[in-house]
Amino acid sequence: MNTIDKFNEHVMGTYGRYPLVMDSGSGETASDENGKKYIDFGSGIGTNSLGYCNDAWADAVCAQVRKIQHTSNYYYTKVQADFAEQLTKAAGMEKVFFGNSGAEANECAIKIARKYSFDKYGKGRHNIITLVNSFHGRTITTLSATGQDVFHNYFFPFTEGFIFVKANDIDDLKAKLDDTVCAVMFEHIQGEGGVNALDKEFVDAIYELTAPKDVLTIADEIQTGVGRSGKFLAGDNFGHKPDIVTLAKGIAGGLPMGACLTGKKCAGVLTAGTHGSTFGGNPVCCAGGLEVLKKAADPAFLDEVAKKGEYFRKKLCEIPEVEGVSGLGLMIGITLKTKKAGDVAKAALDNGLLVLTAKEKVRLLPPLTISYEEIDAGIAILADILK
Ligand SMILES: *Cc1c(COP(=O)(O)O)cnc(C)c1O
Repeated sequence: MNTIDKFNEHVMGTYGRYPLVMDSGSGETASDENGKKYIDFGSGIGTNSLGYCNDAWADAVCAQVRKIQHTSNYYYTKVQADFAEQLTKAAGMEKVFFGNSGAEANECAIKIARKYSFDKYGKGRHNIITLVNSFHGRTITTLSATGQDVFHNYFFPFTEGFIFVKANDIDDLKAKLDDTVCAVMFEHIQGEGGVNALDKEFVDAIYELTAPKDVLTIADEIQTGVGRSGKFLAGDNFGHKPDIVTLAKGIAGGLPMGACLTGKKCAGVLTAGTHGSTFGGNPVCCAGGLEVLKKAADPAFLDEVAKKGEYFRKKLCEIPEVEGVSGLGLMIGITLKTKKAGDVAKAALDNGLLVLTAKEKVRLLPPLTISYEEIDAGIAILADILK
């Protein structure tokens, strides 16, 4: 039986997959089981931040596997301590809790926000404002936090306590920010929602309106963080530090890890027994994460990411079929004049290029290490398809 048939016989059909069996990768190029090569402008949804099987990353990960692959969180490991030190420093935060995915990082953030408020003010101040068109994950609670009706189906009852505000609508935020609210949670650039950056004025308003009420700010940087935007955190482009930041996707170069970081205010909220994760802070994932930080926390590397983002935008705007380009750094949304994003993604596959879609846009999240030659080669394929 071929792989696709075997797969579909045994794996739950939760994804619409392309008929392609991915086999291996090197640098910014993926290969399928027939040896066909693809320039990767998707990096596993912004996850393979250093490309495929980066040498230094692979060496560090393999060395860690051979040293100690896991221990329980009853004990300490040096590699988790090192990673936590460097991650909190890069993010400008105090403390971190490690989990294994974005949804888990957001669950942790939601628990911290509610407990912070409960500890200080008692019951009744548990609501969290999130934005319309946001995406925060697939668990029941993070689906509940997600501001899109299509996700609020089948799995009733959902977790209560989420209030949706229209992105960039300061009046809507003012109206809903009452004394039942303990936090506002937002993506600086809505990823799944269509690669839309928030207005600077709206982000300013979130901070101005929440501060006097001791309402926490939670930045979901699961897709935008760890260098993707050309800064370590996308929030750094907006000039604010949130109380809580969540990271995942690109954090460990393709190994499963999520992290919830807090500033001083919330650093002591979670105490022994209030939260945990068997695999959280796994040594192999931390070793991979340390290699990612060697690049993604380096200002010169981040400047390169920003420059490559600008280069992408300039080249893409020269394609007549391109209506506009959104996002920041190497997080890119492309609005097309007449063609459908889904059709373009399929055609790209046939022509040896991997791209993503988000709502009606073609979405690019290339590895942060992509070279100008590969950008040119990939854009040439895209331009050809869009003719
Ligand atoms: C991908 C994503 C998540 C969910 O992450 P998982 O690792 O799939 O659980 C949450 N928030 C944002 C902004 C994301 O892009």
